[in-house]
Amino acid sequence: MELRLLGGAKEVGRSCLLLSTEKTSILLDCGLKSTKPTEYPLLEDLPPIDAVIWSHAHIDHIGATPLLFARDLVSNNFKGIFATPPTQALASILLPDSYTLALRQWQELGMEELYQHEHMSKTLSSVRTINLHRIFKIGDFEIELYEAGHILGSCLVAVKAHGVRLVYTGNMGAPGRAEHLNPPEPVKDTDVLILESTYGLTLQHPSLKEAKRRLISSITETIKEGGKVLIPSFSVGRGQKVMRMLRKANLGCKVYYDGLLKDATWFYWRFTSYLSDPLIREVCLTRSNPFIDGIEPVNDMRLRKKIARSKEPCVILAPSGMLEGGWSPYYLRELAGDEKNKVILVGHQGEGTVGDKLSKGERKVDLYVPTEKFDWIKEEVEIKCDVDLIEGFSGHGAANDLRLYARSVKPNTIILNHGDPKAIENLGNILKKDPYLSSSLILTPELGDIYDFGLKRAHIEEDALKEVLSRLEALERRIRKLEEGK
Ligand SMILES: [Zn+2]
Repeated sequence: MELRLLGGAKEVGRSCLLLSTEKTSILLDCGLKSTKPTEYPLLEDLPPIDAVIWSHAHIDHIGATPLLFARDLVSNNFKGIFATPPTQALASILLPDSYTLALRQWQELGMEELYQHEHMSKTLSSVRTINLHRIFKIGDFEIELYEAGHILGSCLVAVKAHGVRLVYTGNMGAPGRAEHLNPPEPVKDTDVLILESTYGLTLQHPSLKEAKRRLISSITETIKEGGKVLIPSFSVGRGQKVMRMLRKANLGCKVYYDGLLKDATWFYWRFTSYLSDPLIREVCLTRSNPFIDGIEPVNDMRLRKKIARSKEPCVILAPSGMLEGGWSPYYLRELAGDEKNKVILVGHQGEGTVGDKLSKGERKVDLYVPTEKFDWIKEEVEIKCDVDLIEGFSGHGAANDLRLYARSVKPNTIILNHGDPKAIENLGNILKKDPYLSSSLILTPELGDIYDFGLKRAHIEEDALKEVLSRLEALERRIRKLEEGK
């Protein structure tokens, strides 16, 4: 079984891995990197692709899939895109949104369109749903999906071929990181673990309780002064986490949610069986959506304008989280001029995005403000309102969580991906120091690197040899010290 890293190597974004045998080739994820301009995986010189497995619906894991159809990269025997039912549902709203943003960017940069509407439709119509813990076969590969605890429907992908079992974590949560999801499942008999490293530099996240306390206190401070609060929110994952915290929070004002957050939250309710056990019990008892108690939807422009322009304090949750699309730029333009108002950033802000600029203290930003006619007006806006940044809502495990997960499966080889170079280096060092992982080989590949797990390639053996030699040297040093101490 050969593994090629087409994206997500020493970077966050454009996750895409090629697994192939002589007969079969599959992709694990095919995402994009939300930079300006957008970056896509290395899709050159690929064998014809027989299937794609999506780990979850975030756009950095699925957003480049239409390119496979636009460039005719799928085989005549293409079996489809395999995903859990919630991932299919969420992709049906997130991919069209991503296509709209791509069209805007291509137009702005004077670029040719990289794919068309038909390729996005083909992508969505090729999705075949598969539930967790159902073994299915694609050519030489035997595949099973496990809970990843990152967002609704997220899964770890276990692939077995030629006697080797490889587990790809996609993105992974951790116990206690999201009360509405079950934690990631340890996958038994894992030989190779491809471990995400997004938070490799953060040993431990602040607790959710602490994040909630800070969020409520920041909101209350503004509401008391008669201001409004905008929380630019990711549609899937962090949005629902914040909604769970704000419902019934007695903030003394109305809380609204808008845009794709409404559709995504409906899917959280529709696919209840993918929620955590306590939440399933809550739903069974209340028969109501456990995310929206006391939170009101914004369904039309009239209400949007009323909320933004009235004197009444309120909290507004609206995508996108980086203020690059959706209705959050509209609310920011309306709220930005009043010092009493506040923007609270609760998520990762991609380099160069509006959210990134605000978090770095810039107070003049270009916004793409959506209009009633479903297009945008580019506007420079001066930010006079307050900006707050609250961490601790992440759906990714921190370094310590990732280490504990690796311990729970004890693989022979750990490949670190989906992390900035420093995060990967730091996580690698943490894993190497863990005595329970002393027999695991830890690899930190570059983009385009290839590993062969059936017949080991020279560079793996070289890495392994270097690793063994350095551990032997460390052992020798310890023995010498002990002898000197006698
Ligand atoms: Zn994700």
